[in-house]
Amino acid sequence: MAQGEQNLVEGNKAYAAQFTEGHLALPPSQKYAVLTCMDARIDPKGAFNIPLGAAHVIRNAGASAKDAFRSIVISQQLLGTTELLVVKHTGCGMLTFDNAAARDLTKKNKGEEAFKEVADLDFLTFPDLEQAVKDDVEWLKSHKVEEGVKITGWVYEVETGKARKVV
Ligand SMILES: [Zn+2]
Repeated sequence: MAQGEQNLVEGNKAYAAQFTEGHLALPPSQKYAVLTCMDARIDPKGAFNIPLGAAHVIRNAGASAKDAFRSIVISQQLLGTTELLVVKHTGCGMLTFDNAAARDLTKKNKGEEAFKEVADLDFLTFPDLEQAVKDDVEWLKSHKVEEGVKITGWVYEVETGKARKVV
């Protein structure tokens, strides 16, 4: 069994045996959403103090607002969230490459046919962390659909566990 599957199989039985939260409602009870990176070092529940059932946690590479827009609109329009925290982080992989590098690596690893599949893909990388937080918050606020939503931007430090507000 692969590692991820093995972890699930071995851990889920014990988790389900002590699980008592099956009564929770579908809409987040505290009416907010957190957009953060998929980075394996981030524990949103612990680091951002999110009780189960309280908030949506939307994750992707780099905590990209553009990439997450579909989920953000669903969170707000269908499930009633009115606050959004955009949390990028120090040491993010998205600071370390660009579109050309990702495309070239795909070509090297998987060949020409695979390369064609990502040739037009925007990997939404960024060279400056704090600026990227500001840009994503501004990009979100430029949309009519975000009017009335309280949007803040943050940096989480994977080295210290601390989160600080940027905008
Ligand atoms: Zn990241």
